Amino acid sequence: MQILLVEDDASLAYGLQQALTREGMIINHVTNGKDALHVVETFPPDIVLLDLGLPDIDGTNVIKSIRSSKNLIPILILTARNSVEDTVFGLDCGADDYLAKPFEIPELLARIRVLERRISTTIESNEIVIEPVSLNTKNMQVKVNAQETIFSKSEYMLLKALMQNAGRVQTRDKLESQLYNWGEEVSSNTLEVHIHHLRKKISSDFIKTIRGVGYTINK
Ligand code: CA
Repeated sequence: MQILLVEDDASLAYGLQQALTREGMIINHVTNGKDALHVVETFPPDIVLLDLGLPDIDGTNVIKSIRSSKNLIPILILTARNSVEDTVFGLDCGADDYLAKPFEIPELLARIRVLERRISTTIESNEIVIEPVSLNTKNMQVKVNAQETIFSKSEYMLLKALMQNAGRVQTRDKLESQLYNWGEEVSSNTLEVHIHHLRKKISSDFIKTIRGVGYTINK
């Protein structure tokens, strides 16, 4: 599962990243509201963990902004403002749940599981199928010709981005920022290397190169 962690407290963010990564989650950490909105729009995670006291945009405005574009992505507020008013306001803005700081990791994991169950009951299918690939966004399992196939984290993220946007061209910049956002060092040929591996594991013509622009998968 992909989690976007929006938290400007460096030590808290570090601790959360370690704990959630140990649970097999992929964590993208940003420290302000502007970056959070960018990631939600370009490469949506499965769940957003959102601090309310951010250095630029107030967390409640981040929630309003996400919901104003009809995006129903699950949002869990992590807040030091444990007053009833702030919590109620955050929920009224469209957050799904909240956790007051300080909290224990097992409680956070339990809340994430609740949101995860909600996703799987509200979204009819977690599977994106474009023959010969079927990609399950819930358990991050990928099958090629019905055979389970192992992809690295970066390969999975790129494949998911391309399949979710099938029929539309994904620019190099957008795909590279995807890799960078999710914690990979990106050098000049990183993207080509991953695309090469994807083609090898799927088929040479599954991902089309749009010369000078980027890549696409046909629907
Ligand atoms: Ca803060």
